[in-house]
Amino acid sequence: MNPTIEQTRAAASVDRTIQLIAQGATTGEACTPDLAKAPWEFDAGPAGYGPGSSMGDVIPTGSPRQGALPEAYRTASNDDLHARIRAAKATLGDRVVVLGHFYQRDEVIEHADFVGDSFQLANAALSRPDAEAIVFCGVHFMAETADLLSTPEQSVILPNLAAGCSMADMADESSVEECWEQLESVYGDLAATDADGRVPVIPVTYMNSSAALKGFVGRHGGIVCTSSNAKTVLEWAFERGQRVLFFPDQHLGRNTAKAMGVPLSQMPMWNPRRALGGNSSSDLDDARVILWHGFCSVHKRFTVDQIAAARESHPGVQVIVHPECPMPVVDAADAAGSTDFIVKAIQAAPAGSTFAIGTEINLVQRLAAEYPQHEIFCLDPVVCPCSTMYRIHPGYLAWVLEELVGGRVVNRITVPADVADPARLALERMLAAKPAPVGRVAPNARIETPDAGVDTLAGARFSTDESGA
Ligand code: SF4
Repeated sequence: MNPTIEQTRAAASVDRTIQLIAQGATTGEACTPDLAKAPWEFDAGPAGYGPGSSMGDVIPTGSPRQGALPEAYRTASNDDLHARIRAAKATLGDRVVVLGHFYQRDEVIEHADFVGDSFQLANAALSRPDAEAIVFCGVHFMAETADLLSTPEQSVILPNLAAGCSMADMADESSVEECWEQLESVYGDLAATDADGRVPVIPVTYMNSSAALKGFVGRHGGIVCTSSNAKTVLEWAFERGQRVLFFPDQHLGRNTAKAMGVPLSQMPMWNPRRALGGNSSSDLDDARVILWHGFCSVHKRFTVDQIAAARESHPGVQVIVHPECPMPVVDAADAAGSTDFIVKAIQAAPAGSTFAIGTEINLVQRLAAEYPQHEIFCLDPVVCPCSTMYRIHPGYLAWVLEELVGGRVVNRITVPADVADPARLALERMLAAKPAPVGRVAPNARIETPDAGVDTLAGARFSTDESGA
């Protein structure tokens, strides 16, 4: 007998799993007992990312804080919150669109009009131009990207302002500006071209970065990439520059460049707290890809030992990891690719397949529930969701929607025009970048990058092939 929708939801819910672990009602381990608390308990406490994978990361001073959630939402039962969300959405109708990132808890996803990765969702919102409000259940940089792509009349709302991203925060604009000045001291005029028409360095920022950094790369001849198109974007950059400055995720940069044949010896790391990033001038002269010292604390949890354990306990298992994982993990896996790649690999597999997945647990548990014909489990046996995604709870969603019903926009995310214009330019360059002809990439390339894109920001912009994290 097929499972009911309720059974599927219950099986998929990471929140429910965490509560059961806290009650001792199931075996298993969470990375901190604080995950069982309501997210609003952390709104008023010391600044931090909250319980979960980023809880050990240092949050920058001045990061957005969420004000107090009204008591009515903090004390409401889950059933009441779900009923209020449904009622508010029914009242608002086409005036609102709710977007849910793959890594959101299931109790939020069930109210989403679109579910996907960050760039898919920003583009999905464009299919609803009449929506006055776009409620983005994701993290801060995603809401910024949605604001960049939406019309000025549309408001983009982040239900909990404390939902940032620790990796995006690891590269702030002033540190990157300082890095740029130091690179100028090594390479000379950064706008000067060599005999092949290439400048000394092209800046490339991952989609998982602030709008300010997208604006920075837009102003300096650079480009944005996603985890799906990083190879194409690096090729675009190498045609125009002798080397690349890649931020904020060292792992995506390293894994992608390595698959393209760039030797590790030509990928120095840039530590923003050290002079020349901790490198010598000759290291930087020889560099092909300068990697910013940033990482995702969700994907950093996956290890080669976990892969070995999965292979031992599940002979024949296919191990698929996200390219934000460290290089040894990507090397030990059977495949690496974006969330969209992972979803499609599972969809395409014959019934009875077994998968160990190295990405955020909310997506993994949802896939396990949606594809019961396979055995799907998370590589990391400890339940540890993305801290900031987990700050969005149905209580906040009910609050922002009921405020909209009352004619009030709360938690609006707006990118200033002087940042938005160059940031859009960097996104336009990404969409215009085309994959290299067959044969341009080293034959040992392993990262799966579909790379078929859309052409302009003004056209049909929802493409699963431009997926990000
Ligand atoms: S999963 Fe990693 S990159 Fe994505 S929002 Fe969480 S910390 Fe940021």
